[in-house]
Amino acid sequence: MTKTEEVAESHSSGEFYEKYEPKEILGRGVSSVVRRCIHKVTREEYAVKIIDITAGNLSPQEVQELREATQKEIDILRKVSGHPNVIQLKDSYESHTFFFLVFDLMKRGELFDYLTEKVTLSEKETRKIMRALLEVIQYLHSMNIVHRDLKPENILLDDDMNIKLTDFGFSCQLQGDEKLKEICGTPGYLAPEILECSMDPDHPGYGKEIDIWSTGVIMYTLLAGSPPFWHRKQMLMLRMIMNGDYKFGSPEWDDQSDTVKDLITHFLVVKPKNRYTVEDALAHPFFQQYVVEEVRHFSPFRKFRVICLTVLASVRIYLNYRNVKPITRDVMQHDPYGLKPIRKLIDVCAFRIYGHWVKKGEAQNRAALFENTPKAILLSLAAEEELF
Ligand code: ADP
Ligand code: MG
Repeated sequence: MTKTEEVAESHSSGEFYEKYEPKEILGRGVSSVVRRCIHKVTREEYAVKIIDITAGNLSPQEVQELREATQKEIDILRKVSGHPNVIQLKDSYESHTFFFLVFDLMKRGELFDYLTEKVTLSEKETRKIMRALLEVIQYLHSMNIVHRDLKPENILLDDDMNIKLTDFGFSCQLQGDEKLKEICGTPGYLAPEILECSMDPDHPGYGKEIDIWSTGVIMYTLLAGSPPFWHRKQMLMLRMIMNGDYKFGSPEWDDQSDTVKDLITHFLVVKPKNRYTVEDALAHPFFQQYVVEEVRHFSPFRKFRVICLTVLASVRIYLNYRNVKPITRDVMQHDPYGLKPIRKLIDVCAFRIYGHWVKKGEAQNRAALFENTPKAILLSLAAEEELF
């Protein structure tokens, strides 16, 4: 049986338990639980998304809607599973109450957890992830499929740190120039036109551009370690999104290149028709840097260039070395967050304690959590109140 025939076939629920041993929980959603599972014969490991369509107090109509939504998710997964950066659906099983979707297991988990562990990612690492993500989006959009829930929790990492896009639960294949009106997705990642749609019954609807907006939010978050749009009052956060009100604040953005900021600026454009398309994004200078050439020809010009770059780098290292401020007790006491290694340490600790979203706008940074002043403590408490 070919791989396509294998996934095209849908089995009954009991067969799942005959074939697989379910193990510990890997993740949870509103109506789904994802568990590691083992194929009883081959002993190979997989992940199974178990969707209970009767969970909670659902009306028969809601159960039917959830069943249809899950069938749609499976249908889209089958269409897109061939791409190297999309999770592979191996098998699916269905009963009156449950769906079991068996996927390749991604032991490294979500990009979200990786980011939480690393706090921020370098431009180089962000470039690799964003290029792969944009290539998947290009593939989806070429089939007129909108993902509608792009976020670091739905991007998994394989053993070689390649991304695999998952969770096609909100995905939709558009017919021609069809526009959508439903409000769905995750608040911080919602495009302004989705929100406008929910407020204006005469709105023409939204399309594939919403995935590019979410991509901009993801890219900003990977580099800064905090999201571009955040307010403890959700209404105000939504207003910030609708106005495209975000900043490249200090100190997170001080060391980032203008090229990377320029790309984000083209993603987070309020009017969808002025926003970059996926093709525009992939052609941006940010993705033209550091392309490793397969064959290295050491021509005289190349040698000259390497020598020039080496001299420039040495001069830069020397100047940086000369400009380094000595870390005195006084500096440590008054501005620990101003020192890059200490800042990194503080950020790591803050993330361990408070989870991911700690920075709440320009008035506060993570250093405030460690400052021993009444104002800082108040700010930290306010942050805590929002988080728990
Ligand atoms: P939901 O629609 O409920 O959000 P997802 O498909 O996003 O469900 O899965 C929920 C979580 O389960 C993911 O965010 C991830 O942590 C984990 N997960 C899902 N699929 C896999 C997989 N193939 N390998 C490892 N973990 C997974
Ligand atoms: Mg999800």
